[in-house]
Amino acid sequence: MSRPVPKAGILDIAPYTPGKTPVPEAGRKVFKLSANETPFGPSPHATAAYTGAATHLEDYPEGTSKVLREAVGKRYGLDPSRIICGAGSDEILNLIAHTYLGPGDEAIHTEHGFLVYPIATKGNGATNVVAKEIEFTCSVDEILKCVTDRTKLVWLANPNNPTGTYLPYTEVKRLRASLPDHVLLVLDAAYADYVGKPDYDSGLDLARTTENTVVCFTFSKVHGLAALRIGWMFGPEHIVDAMNRVRGPFNVSAPAMLAAVAAIEDTGHVEMSRAFTEKWRDLLTAEITKLGLKVTPSVANFILIHFPTTAGTTAADADAFLTKRGLVLRAVNNYGLHQSLRMTIGTAEANELVLAALREFMLRND
Ligand SMILES: *Cc1c(COP(=O)(O)O)cnc(C)c1O
Repeated sequence: MSRPVPKAGILDIAPYTPGKTPVPEAGRKVFKLSANETPFGPSPHATAAYTGAATHLEDYPEGTSKVLREAVGKRYGLDPSRIICGAGSDEILNLIAHTYLGPGDEAIHTEHGFLVYPIATKGNGATNVVAKEIEFTCSVDEILKCVTDRTKLVWLANPNNPTGTYLPYTEVKRLRASLPDHVLLVLDAAYADYVGKPDYDSGLDLARTTENTVVCFTFSKVHGLAALRIGWMFGPEHIVDAMNRVRGPFNVSAPAMLAAVAAIEDTGHVEMSRAFTEKWRDLLTAEITKLGLKVTPSVANFILIHFPTTAGTTAADADAFLTKRGLVLRAVNNYGLHQSLRMTIGTAEANELVLAALREFMLRND
């Protein structure tokens, strides 16, 4: 019997396994620290803009996200005509792949790179190539080793999720300069607002001055608008033009667009969140390290905690122990990290509870 067959590559994508539904002990409050969402929610101005849009739900949104491109352009000093908005950076990453990748092409991402990259690559029939990381950090030399004459694109999350590490801007520039000119470099700056390092840069200037680099941003993390699905990309005119040809004509909803405009204008909200996150990231890293666990130094709003392999002390044991207490971290097995858990920085209350629970977990195993 013949039946419809998906395009080449689609069935090579591992089916998505949703995060487990936590079952804490009765009476425990649940703290979701598994999806890198902000504990602060969006700016109150963004919520107001969203609610305000509720009276016009019958109208199609303006199709090019003009108000948002202008607000982003103003905030970052960018030409709005070189910005494209999407339903989350997910849509933008998929649009990039859809525009540039096909059978026979290769796209490179690093060992613990964001899971959307291989999905977007394979979904367009292209071949996924994985570059080694060193100490959970992307390596320019390892990426360059993977380049062949079929390489069409490099995905680079900077900072990276789920490791929390970053590449200094000099390294990003070295990567760009060493890649062939026809290779598109996609810099994913989802966590850029959390980075406090002087040698970090999201790469907007590379995107401004080269013909082959784009930078993607999201409103899902520090701006607290994950539910609305909204993100943007800045790049060379010819790339934005090509992507706009395949983009859905009304891909961004009006409430999302208006909420995002208000969010990007509220720099105070972002700064408050950044400072809080930095304080707790440093504190949690230091305190969890004192318990005898390894923590990869992070510049984002989450940390990667590594557990021993001895029975009773593994990442899976810790996950079960924490979940019972209503503390839901993220197992990262699907990133090949079987001995680690990723913890999103939460409220002070949530962070204190995780610390206390981990202390209890480690003492229990002494
Ligand atoms: C969260 C995240 C995004 C943002 O995804 P959205 O679709 O905008 O919610 C992009 N890249 C990385 C690496 C992320 O962790």
